[in-house]
Amino acid sequence: MSDCIFCKIVRNEAPADILYEDEYSVVFKSINPVAPVHLLVVPKKHIISVDHIVENDKKLIGHLFLVAQKVAAEQGIASGYKLAVNVGRAGGQEVFHLHIHLLGGWKNARDRDIPNMP
Ligand code: AMP
Ligand code: ZN
Repeated sequence: MSDCIFCKIVRNEAPADILYEDEYSVVFKSINPVAPVHLLVVPKKHIISVDHIVENDKKLIGHLFLVAQKVAAEQGIASGYKLAVNVGRAGGQEVFHLHIHLLGGWKNARDRDIPNMP
C-alpha cells in the first residue's frame, strides 16, 4: 500500500472530483487544469510511471485507454482530444503514480497547443 497522493484519492483518503470509477481505474479532475477539460485517468494499482509497467500490466494499460475514450464521450469531447503521459522527472512527471492526462474542450484551434503541459 502506497501513501502517494493518487493512491490516497483511490482509497478515498484524499479529496478529488471523481467523474468515473471502476474496478481498475478512476478518473478525476486535475487540480491545476491547462485545458477546459483536464482529467487524469489513473489505474488503482500503484505503478510509478510508464517506465515501471510490466508484462502483467498490458491488459490494464489497454483498459485505461478505453476508459479515456468512454469519459471523453461522456464529457462531449469525442470529436477531438489529447492524451498525454509524462514519464520521469525530466519528462515533466510530478506525481509518481501512472496517469494519462485527458485534455480537450478547446474552442479555438490555436488553444490546443499546451505550452506549459505539466
Ligand atoms: P504530471 O506532471 O504528469 O505528474 O501531472 C500531475 C497532474 O496531477 C497535474 O495535472 C496536477 O495538476 C495533478 N494533481 C496533482 N495533485 C493532484 C490532486 N491532489 N488532485 C488532482 N490533481 C492533482
Ligand atoms: Zn500511488
